[in-house]
Amino acid sequence: MPTSAALSRTIVEPCKSHPPNRQHSLGPFVVSIPSIANLSHFTLIETLDAYGFTNRAPSPWRGEEPDDWDAYPVEIGDLPDFGRDRAPVDNNDAFGGSLGAWDSLGDRIFGQSRKPERLPPPGAVDALAWYLPFHCYGPDWGIYIKEDEVLNLAAHVKSRLGGGPPKPDETQQLCRVALSILYLHEAFHHKIESFATRLEISRLSAVYLRYDEHVFRPLLGTDSVLEEALACFEMHLRLRTEKSFHGNVRADIKEAALSFLTDWIPYLPPGYRRGLDRHLPRELGVLMSQVAEGRVTPSQSPNDWNIASHMIRGLFNQGLVAHVVVPVGTKPTIPWLDAARYLSISTRKVERHITKDFGYVDTGRGKGSHRHYHCIGRDPITLPSNRESLSPGVQRQVASALGYKNIRELASKC
Ligand SMILES: [Zn+2]
Repeated sequence: MPTSAALSRTIVEPCKSHPPNRQHSLGPFVVSIPSIANLSHFTLIETLDAYGFTNRAPSPWRGEEPDDWDAYPVEIGDLPDFGRDRAPVDNNDAFGGSLGAWDSLGDRIFGQSRKPERLPPPGAVDALAWYLPFHCYGPDWGIYIKEDEVLNLAAHVKSRLGGGPPKPDETQQLCRVALSILYLHEAFHHKIESFATRLEISRLSAVYLRYDEHVFRPLLGTDSVLEEALACFEMHLRLRTEKSFHGNVRADIKEAALSFLTDWIPYLPPGYRRGLDRHLPRELGVLMSQVAEGRVTPSQSPNDWNIASHMIRGLFNQGLVAHVVVPVGTKPTIPWLDAARYLSISTRKVERHITKDFGYVDTGRGKGSHRHYHCIGRDPITLPSNRESLSPGVQRQVASALGYKNIRELASKC
């Protein structure tokens, strides 16, 4: 049995002020449940591993290997907001990239948008972006989005928008909606894995891999694959309704993006193409029962889940980072990603930082490809040996163990 104390413990801390509503008074102390935001990636993966709920022989259905791509982390919530008060893009734009870089990207998107109108190939959305589950990929889990496909979708939105070559501000807004479209689809896969994980921890039996094997994979390629249909539904719904995803982009750009989705979704493969069916939300309960029972035809009433609707929230909804990927050895062209280039950190640098500055010790338990480090009072750290650039997942695990806010802070300290 694992010692997953971090998952189950409550935190007892002195009461500093009037207790907020969500805390319960207990004499001079306040007992609060650790918030979801405090869940460390390491604890999650270690606990699931220890219970035997994971399988590191990744399913070919779930996406491409992270090592085949160079990945640039991007947090959708960190991208610029385009509200009325936002200053126009200038050469000192906080998100990197000069006006010139955005200008030439705008020209490229404009050029592509003028090609004879054609929808992206009828391959699945998951060929353009994919979600790697933590049940199969450990610290490399997460959303991966091909940069070329972001630009391709941006061109499709631009062709509906019309007008001349986009100015830098418009180019940024086109990139933002294109990125959000792919992100939102993949974020739904994270929600389903999060739901399965909650069931696993409450029942202490495997759920996600069983659902993957007995429901998701057999149904893939058919209109019965509810996870893909609902992922497409959310893509459209959340882009339309949630400010964090359209980021206050101009109304005509948002409308062009939604009009593109309205044409594109029915053109997608079976399952995906049902994404505009307005009755689909009713089937969310069926999908939840399928996950819970690992059966295509579950016996539990879908209505039961109305009582447990919060179980479908993503474990890492806040700050779920996407990795925009480019082929190994090439450079990204979206200037936001260029600004993230300094996030490349080697194994050697991190090793030096955690041992010298934090007192981590190599346990000698690692296999040749990985080494394990321990430090009393902190989460252990596992590092792949001799990497010039650690994957965003590993960087995230290290940042969380050291108590840093994000991997940007880690990069600045190494
Ligand atoms: Zn998908």
